[in-house]
Amino acid sequence: MGAMDEIEAPWFRIADPLPKGATVAVIGGGIGGLCAATALDRVGTSVRLYDRLKTPGGGASATPAAIVQPRAFVKNSVVARFHADAYRRAIALYDRLSDLTESMWLARGVLAVGRDDSGAARHEAFVGSGLLAEDDAQWLDVANSSRAVGVSVCAPGAWFPRAGCLDTGRLCMALAVSLDVQCGTPIKTLKSDGGKWRLLGGD
Ligand SMILES: Cc1cc2nc3c(=O)[nH]c(=O)nc-3n(C[C@H](O)[C@H](O)[C@H](O)COP(=O)(O)OP(=O)(O)OC[C@H]3O[C@@H](n4cnc5c(N)ncnc54)[C@H](O)[C@@H]3O)c2cc1C
Repeated sequence: MGAMDEIEAPWFRIADPLPKGATVAVIGGGIGGLCAATALDRVGTSVRLYDRLKTPGGGASATPAAIVQPRAFVKNSVVARFHADAYRRAIALYDRLSDLTESMWLARGVLAVGRDDSGAARHEAFVGSGLLAEDDAQWLDVANSSRAVGVSVCAPGAWFPRAGCLDTGRLCMALAVSLDVQCGTPIKTLKSDGGKWRLLGGD
């Protein structure tokens, strides 16, 4: 069991409400910044996103494909529920965007077999923990694991049918399209100025 399984209380503080008419600046147009900006935009916050590169999604998020799968916690703790909820919300967002434009998914379904016996036991315990609904996480024997992925596998595994391999470039562009994104704008300094922040570029 990892240390994260032991966290029982929230480790974050709910932010104070924003002043009326405030604009939030998000620095960085990778998946992290774009998702944060999208979440703010969806609750009606005025948000502007800055990236130093010419297009969004050019940092670590430029990797051509990314595996999206739930993090396997064993204990039903607050941190485990946070991650399970984040996984469900991420999948729902990627599916919603796929319905609106083109599919964000390169492939769907992930079988997690674990690197060794303890890794496999962790995945099995995660499936049994009830953190994800049965539709989202199943423990499959060798025959059903092979059937799920379409190749012969030699170990049982945790099957996450809605997990998958994401086209990160497509995702970044789909998120950016409905946001106020200022590309080619490196932010060099942040200055606190009368309760507001000023973002300063290089020159
Ligand atoms: C090869 C590789 C494979 C990976 N595979 C997976 C995987 O399978 N599954 C998975 O979940 N994750 C994977 N990751 C990790 C994942 O890609 C990153 O965790 C994720 O993309 C990070 O997103 P981010 O928005 O935090 O950062 P980034 O995508 O790096 O975005 C940061 C952005 O900030 C901008 N920026 C930085 N400084 C400034 C500044 N001063 N002013 C303005 N803009 C600035 C940068 O230009 C950049 O666009 C992989 C990463 C790599 C490199």
